[in-house]
Amino acid sequence: MAECLFCAIVAGDIPATTVLETDRILAFRDIDPQAPTHVLVIPKDHYPDVAALAAADTSLLGEVITGAYRVAAVEGVGETGYRVVFNTGADAGQAVPHVHGHVLGGRSLTWPPG
Ligand code: 5GP
Ligand code: ZN
Repeated sequence: MAECLFCAIVAGDIPATTVLETDRILAFRDIDPQAPTHVLVIPKDHYPDVAALAAADTSLLGEVITGAYRVAAVEGVGETGYRVVFNTGADAGQAVPHVHGHVLGGRSLTWPPG
């Protein structure tokens, strides 16, 4: 099994509830949702964080961002509003070192997040 948790999800070794998939990205529900809509969007290839992805492949970064906005639409929060977050590094509390955009919506989202 892949050492990286999200690579293991991409490989199908760990189950996840898929919301959207293309040949290069995967979107699945967060296991501990912080809002009625809480979906993670990742590239299938492993990059540790959004900075590494941006440095390596802006096209794939664009697909991840586009995926986030498509998720918002299919989840029905495109009109009510939502937030896309890329936690990056220790101070942001990034727990999984495989770049992922959180798509959060379906409730009022205060800032800063709790
Ligand atoms: P981070 O803190 O790295 O930005 O976010 C990692 C996210 O991954 C957390 O919101 C956490 O709930 C989620 N997560 C951790 N393990 C799993 C898992 O096995 N499956 C899914 N679907 N989400 C997970
Ligand atoms: Zn990975």
